[in-house]
Amino acid sequence: MHAHPKAPAPPAALSVHAVPSVLISEVGPRDGLQSVQAVMPTAHKLAWIDALHASGLREIEVGSFVPARTLPQMADVAEVVRHATALPGWTVMALVPNLRGAVAALEAGVHKLTVPVSASEAHSLANVRRSRAEMVAVVREIVALRDATAPGVPVEIGMSTAFGCTLQGAVAEDEVVWLAEQLVAAGADEIGLSDTTGMANPLQVRRLFQRVRAAIGDKTGSAHLHNTRGLGLANCLAAYDVGVRTFDASLGGLGGCPYAPGASGNVVTEDLVFMFEAMGVDTGVDLEHLIAARAPLRAGLPDEPLYGMVPDAGVPAGFRDLRRL
Ligand code: ZN
Repeated sequence: MHAHPKAPAPPAALSVHAVPSVLISEVGPRDGLQSVQAVMPTAHKLAWIDALHASGLREIEVGSFVPARTLPQMADVAEVVRHATALPGWTVMALVPNLRGAVAALEAGVHKLTVPVSASEAHSLANVRRSRAEMVAVVREIVALRDATAPGVPVEIGMSTAFGCTLQGAVAEDEVVWLAEQLVAAGADEIGLSDTTGMANPLQVRRLFQRVRAAIGDKTGSAHLHNTRGLGLANCLAAYDVGVRTFDASLGGLGGCPYAPGASGNVVTEDLVFMFEAMGVDTGVDLEHLIAARAPLRAGLPDEPLYGMVPDAGVPAGFRDLRRL
C-alpha cells in the first residue's frame, strides 16, 4: 500500500491561558508629567489616575518625590500617592532620587520605590551630580531605610541610558551588567533597563536583557523602552521574547524626553496593550477604557500633543473575538 507522506503536525494551538501574561506599568503621571512644561492641576491628575485605574492597569508610577522648586509638576505628589493608594488592586510606585525623597514617599504610603541610576557616568554626573558609585551608595541607604521602616516595600532601580547616552554615546554592556550586580549587592529588589534616549534596537535589547538576566537572574526588572525613533514596540517584543514580563509605558506617549521633533518619547500604552492583546498575551487592561483615559489627560494638559497609532486608527472590529480564538 502506498503511504502518503505524513503531513506535518499542526503547531500547538495558542490559547490565552498558555501564553504568559504581562504587567503593564503606567508611567505617564511621573515620566510624562515631569517632561512637559505645563503643570497639571491636581484635580485633573486625580481624575486621570481614576480613569487609568478603571482600565484595569495593575501598576502605576504616580510621581517623583523631588523638591517642588526643581519640578513644580510634582509639588502635589504626596496627595496624589494618598489618592492612588486608596484605589484597590494595583501597585502604586513613586520615583525617589535620594534618601530624603524615599523618606517622604514611604511616609505618603507608596507600595514600591523606583530609584533612577544612570548606566552612563556622564549622564549620572549631569543629571544627579553624582557618580554611579555614589548612586550605588544612595541605593544602599534607601534599602536600609526601607528595611527599618517599611520592609514590605520593594526597591526597584530604573537603570537609565542602559542602551546608549546622548552625552557619551555608546554605553558598554559590560558596565551595565557590572552596575546591575553592584545594585543587587546594595540590596535592590529589581533592576529594570531604560532606553532613556531612544537609541535601542531589538537585537541589542535581546542581548542586554539576556546578559543582565544571566548575571542577576530574577532580579531583572522591567523594560522601559522609548519610541523616539519608531522602534518602541519592536524593542518591547524583543524583550518579551527573552522573558521580560513587565513593561513601562505612558498613555498617549506623554513625556520621555523626546529629542526628535514630532516623535513621541515613551512607548504608547494603548499601542503596547493592543500588540500584546492581539497576540493573546493577557495584560488585564481593557483597551477601550484605556483609550477613554486620554480624555481626562487632554483636559488637564490641553496644549500637549498625544501620540498613539491605535487611538488614531481605532480598535479594529472583532478585536475582542480575535484575541479569544
Ligand atoms: Zn521614559
